[in-house]
Amino acid sequence: MKKILVQLDNDESASVFDTVAAYDSGVDSVLQYASVAPEDVQNLVYGAIFTRGPQDLKNSAVFIGGSDVAVGEKMLKIAQDSFIGPLKVSVMLDANGCNTTAAAAVAKMLSSADLSGEKVVVLAGTGPVGIRAAALFAQEGAEVTLTSRDQARAEEAAASVSARFDVKVAGVAAAEEEDLRAALEGARGVLSAGAAGVTLLPESVWIEHPTLQVLGDVNAVPPLGIEGIKVHWKAKEKHGKIIYGAIGIGDFKMKVHHASVARLFEQNDLVLDAEEVYATAKELSS
Ligand code: NAP
Repeated sequence: MKKILVQLDNDESASVFDTVAAYDSGVDSVLQYASVAPEDVQNLVYGAIFTRGPQDLKNSAVFIGGSDVAVGEKMLKIAQDSFIGPLKVSVMLDANGCNTTAAAAVAKMLSSADLSGEKVVVLAGTGPVGIRAAALFAQEGAEVTLTSRDQARAEEAAASVSARFDVKVAGVAAAEEEDLRAALEGARGVLSAGAAGVTLLPESVWIEHPTLQVLGDVNAVPPLGIEGIKVHWKAKEKHGKIIYGAIGIGDFKMKVHHASVARLFEQNDLVLDAEEVYATAKELSS
């Protein structure tokens, strides 16, 4: 029986990246749906669950993508609410790459340094990747601080981590270098999770930092999130620190993406959100 992935995308054009990644994960056929709104999801999911018997439904799965992560989260909830008893399919959320990117960054950084009980700072941790990375670090026992240019946004993002992931993280403003230095005081790890093409961590701040041990950056678009690093660095030792650039993390992110999509077809009742994608990343990085 063919493995069919129903790709529900909230953008006007469904993501080519997600379709190619699906085929590279071993899917036989991808059904792409673009401009999908939350209210469209139930009927599309019905099409997936009513077409095969319960014993065959592990051969159908749903992937939720698109650049609007908040809408993607609503789509995931509606997809799950659409299941009827044993009539369900596995579903994965990776809108804008949020889960695979955060999971890959955290797993890679933790494979280089034990950050349990240590301070970790997620710079510009108010976006979808940063929020998830902050939550995953905290779930691994780190003392997490996320930053923003704005104190209210930092606190809002920290509160959203607590509400969704049941862990506590601090939120502080770090628009100026003085505040950034204060946020990084005593930190062992830092992940730069800002928007593409924005430098958040100047070389002068990290190069002689007395406690930083591992640095990660998910911004692959120059200028990079961390000044003075190379995008392809993968556990590169520099100035006594271990550094991951965005492509160094991105290569692993692709492995996590492929393995996660492949997992969807092992059974018909998996929900792969941040924690589950991270579990796969951890397995792959160990
Ligand atoms: P995002 O939502 O676009 O941005 C994250 C945060 O960056 C924003 O909440 C904002 O925080 C801050 N920011 C935006 N413009 C800024 C500016 N001009 N100066 C300083 N800070 C600014 O990011 P995301 O979607 O979470 O993604 C994070 C990073 O991961 C991006 O660089 C993205 O390209 C990368 N990414 C990589 C992959 C991959 O496959 N390698 C996949 C997904 C994402 P405040 O407004 O609170 O300051």
